[in-house]
Amino acid sequence: MSHALPIFQTSNFSYPDAAAADSAASGGAYLYSRHGNPTNEAFEQAIANLEGAEAGLSFASGQAAVATAIFALARADSDGPGGGAAIGEVLASDGIYGGSTELVRDLLPAHGSAARFVAGWDTDAVAAAVGSATRALLVETISNPLLRLADLPALGAMARNRGFALIVDSTFATPCLCRPLEHGATAVVHSVSKYIGGHGDLLGGIVVGSAATIARVRRYRTLFGGIMDPFCAWLAARGTRTLALRVERQCATAARLADVMATLPGVQRVHYPTRADHPDQMRARALLAAGAGGAIVSFDLGGGAAARRFYDRVRLIVRAASLGEVTSLLTHPASFSHKGLSPDERARHGISDGLLRLSVGIEAPEDLEDDIRQALAH
Ligand code: PLP
Repeated sequence: MSHALPIFQTSNFSYPDAAAADSAASGGAYLYSRHGNPTNEAFEQAIANLEGAEAGLSFASGQAAVATAIFALARADSDGPGGGAAIGEVLASDGIYGGSTELVRDLLPAHGSAARFVAGWDTDAVAAAVGSATRALLVETISNPLLRLADLPALGAMARNRGFALIVDSTFATPCLCRPLEHGATAVVHSVSKYIGGHGDLLGGIVVGSAATIARVRRYRTLFGGIMDPFCAWLAARGTRTLALRVERQCATAARLADVMATLPGVQRVHYPTRADHPDQMRARALLAAGAGGAIVSFDLGGGAAARRFYDRVRLIVRAASLGEVTSLLTHPASFSHKGLSPDERARHGISDGLLRLSVGIEAPEDLEDDIRQALAH
């Protein structure tokens, strides 16, 4: 018996006889890796266990996971034999990942779904926006880049009472910091490309939830064809084994750097969920495990020129989009993730030209601190 998880790097499965083939054809055994694969299933079960879910499904990217979950769970009624009803109204939070924003804003209306945005961390605004036609609400546990937190227990109760699916993208929180299903989420989504993979060498996504929810999403995964490759599932499963250790270190370093940066000349504002000046500090303390605030720190250097200078001068920290890796990554939201918004929209979302987002890695904290100090000192 292999100690390490084997990679079933195969597109299809073969059978010793007709009876075994019949069993596979009726769902009793593996058939074709677009439907399911043992390596993927091991990874899916690992994340389902961490999230307290009954089941999970892996995808080729976080984007595929978000899109498939929305298409599967925001149906106006149940799937009939012919494919069921159109997609119903979807509400999505401001400040979610740009790809999710574009999906909701541009693609859903083309498929007959009314789609609207609301500040997901403002529970009263969400309650006012939900209508009788609302079928799904998409929020992120921690928003990007200002790190606002949704009140998941309140949204979970609202979803139950008003009959819509609560889809929570928990990429920034990881299952180590928050388990949204315990607060009433219908499904939890992750970009596995971030903390779960952890090394910046894979693209993947996952959706977890109850067995019934996942059965519904499975049909869409099979027919949209967005399953994760088995080798990627193997890498992702390996990443899962060190996830808790990495996240613990990353959060501790992030909290330290946030406090240091708040004292440094040139830093006008630091955004970090557990700091006293963060608007969702109390919510972060209630929702995130062991007082952790996550491993992202955003900070404002007061203007675009200062942000560019800092960006150019870091030496250890890597200039790259994405987040959640062992290496610390720096990005300028106004030029990357929020470039598609007009200056007015960016201002409305609090994304100034001086804002930078640091995804904290597992380097020695003092080395990161030195790098930040020298980049600011110039
Ligand atoms: N959700 C969040 C919160 C993200 O940050 C991202 C990517 O940055 C995605 C989803 C999309 O994931 P992927 O890049 O794996 O497609």
